[in-house]
Amino acid sequence: MVAVEKGPQRTCVTCRQTKDKKQLVRYVVAPGGAVLVDYLQRLPGRGAYTCIDKQCLLDAVKRNSFQRCFKCQVLPVDPLELAQQLTQAIEKKITSLIGMARKSRQFIAGSNGVIEALKSGSSLALVIIATDISASIAKKIEGLALRGPVEMACLFDKQTMGKLLGKEERSVIAIQTGLLADSLLNELHRYRQLVREN
Ligand SMILES: [Zn+2]
Repeated sequence: MVAVEKGPQRTCVTCRQTKDKKQLVRYVVAPGGAVLVDYLQRLPGRGAYTCIDKQCLLDAVKRNSFQRCFKCQVLPVDPLELAQQLTQAIEKKITSLIGMARKSRQFIAGSNGVIEALKSGSSLALVIIATDISASIAKKIEGLALRGPVEMACLFDKQTMGKLLGKEERSVIAIQTGLLADSLLNELHRYRQLVREN
């Protein structure tokens, strides 16, 4: 029998579910006593964990779970500020994954290129359109992506998207299937869960 390899397990301080710690958010206390999101799980010191779920985060604050868990003086926590830290951390991770995709050349930038790739049935995992893309191009791409089906997301404005790629404004990018795309989809899923619950 092959043992399924399991990563280290941690428990959400709110709902008490035990999960692989990569499936949870880690929090630490800064030297001044502020609770911080440690999204990459690399900061030193004792950590507390919640699910990547806004309700678990908010309830942890409401029930003073952080104070109890850290066993030290913790500054009052603003739950919305903490949720925002988490959202920003995920955005940053998405940004860095797009940067990696660009370097590995697993991506296509620009509406013409992406439309071509969608039409030719190229193995795309994800299409990201800018928040300020023209409505007609968005509609065209949506139609093609739906046929794929290829997952779509609407994130960042054209200028930010261009900056991520070291280029002028970009309204569409697509990422080819692969490990990078899988990580990106995972982060996007987390991001959507958080933002939807706002
Ligand atoms: Zn939970």
